[in-house]
Amino acid sequence: MLNIVLFGPPGAGKGTQAEKLISKYNLVHLSTGDIFRANIKGATDLGTLAKSYIDAGNLVPDEVTIKMLEAEVDKNPNAEGFIFDGFPRTTPQAEALEKFLKGKGTTISVMLALDVSEQELIKRLLLRGKASGRADDANEEVIANRIKVYNEQTAVVADFYSVQNKFQKIDGIGSIDEIFERLSGAIDNYKVSI
Ligand code: AMP
Repeated sequence: MLNIVLFGPPGAGKGTQAEKLISKYNLVHLSTGDIFRANIKGATDLGTLAKSYIDAGNLVPDEVTIKMLEAEVDKNPNAEGFIFDGFPRTTPQAEALEKFLKGKGTTISVMLALDVSEQELIKRLLLRGKASGRADDANEEVIANRIKVYNEQTAVVADFYSVQNKFQKIDGIGSIDEIFERLSGAIDNYKVSI
């Protein structure tokens, strides 16, 4: 299986690139943010619980997020691999994912981390807020909190994969196609190395 963690701060372009990568490599895209938003839209219990955290730009508790992610993986028993987008966002989530995948006889192949400056992120998020109507993208205070949460709780997840030699930084500045080429190149290199 080819299991990729697509990593990077909010606004780095993970969702856009994940959509292109899944069709090239025949993978399943699991975005925890998208799943939460679908639950909010569908007014499920999970959506109600997640909404207050998301609206403030805070993380939904690990226990809830891990359970949801594992259920989504289990919905795709024939997948050739996954792109995890927006997950794991904490070290306990990374540990839980490792244990869960190990139980299925697989593991994370590589973490690809999109590298984008903070200034560029804020610009992109505000633009996206206008186009997508996402409340957490339209408010500068919430954006600032999401970047703070990323720096304080999520950035460290890179170390988890780095010590396993699975971490790879990708320049996230450029056109969508340029960044896609960089990501594809890293995946192709990984594939020839195994
Ligand atoms: P995203 O679409 O990835 O930017 O996620 C939007 C929001 O969903 C985040 O700001 C969090 O509130 C929540 N969320 C998404 N993924 C996770 C996760 N792995 N752990 C906790 N909260 C998450």
